[in-house]
Order: sequence, then C-alpha cells, then structure tokens
Amino acid sequence: MARKAKNEPYHQMMKLRATTLFCPYEDCIDHKNRANGNIIFVRKYGTGETQNLFKCTTCKRTFSERRGTPLFECHLPDEKVYQILKCLSEGNGIRATSRIVGVSKDTVGSIINRIGDHMEDVAATLMTNYHLDECQLDELW
Ligand SMILES: [Zn+2]
Repeated sequence: MARKAKNEPYHQMMKLRATTLFCPYEDCIDHKNRANGNIIFVRKYGTGETQNLFKCTTCKRTFSERRGTPLFECHLPDEKVYQILKCLSEGNGIRATSRIVGVSKDTVGSIINRIGDHMEDVAATLMTNYHLDECQLDELW
C-alpha cells in the first residue's frame, strides 16, 4: 500500500493535535512543556490502527497519545469508547450497551473498570493535593 501524503486531512489534524501535547517522559527537558513545537505526529498504530503515535524531537522518544489516560493499551477506537460511555451514561446496562454498540459484554466491563480506576485516582489526587472532602467531590460531578 502506498504511503499517504503528509498533507492529507488526518495528518493535518494530528499536526494540530501535537501542539496540545507535551513530552510525557519525566527526564526530558521538555517534559510538560507544550509551547515549543517539539512534538510531531509519527503514524497511526495498533490493531486496526486505532491509536496515534507521537514523537518528542527533544529526547527522540515516541509515545502513545493515550499514555497516562484510562485508554492506554486499549485497542478500541476512540469513537467506540465514546459510544460505550454515552450508552452507559444514558442509563443502559452492560448487556444493552453491548448490543447497541456492537461489542462484547467483557469489552463494556473492561471500559467501566478502566474509567472507574481512573476516577478513583482522580478523586484521591483531588482529596490529597487540594484537600477536598468527599462531599465537595460529589458536588464537582
Ligand atoms: Zn521528550
């Protein structure tokens, strides 16, 4: 298959997205520095090419766009994840969500666990770093 030109719309969209990311490696001098244009889009990767690979030109290392998110190493496309979360948030159960979105019940369960674990981490961070109690957290949601 011929390599796609770098001016295709998807590549242009990823070029813009790269400006919103920063190097995730703590030992890089540009770690958490968004503003200097050191992040470039490399390619899509993974099963079904559902994920985006970026590179820090400062430390020359690559990273997944999903690194540090609940979807790291998840093979579902973003759109499927959003469909699952939308179905669940509208009150559908795991079986109904599975049927509506067209994924297995295990996949729905896996997404629930990933998001749940992430929310626990967020809550713990807010309580520790910002001294919020559980009532204040409930008001946030
Ligand atoms: Zn770096």
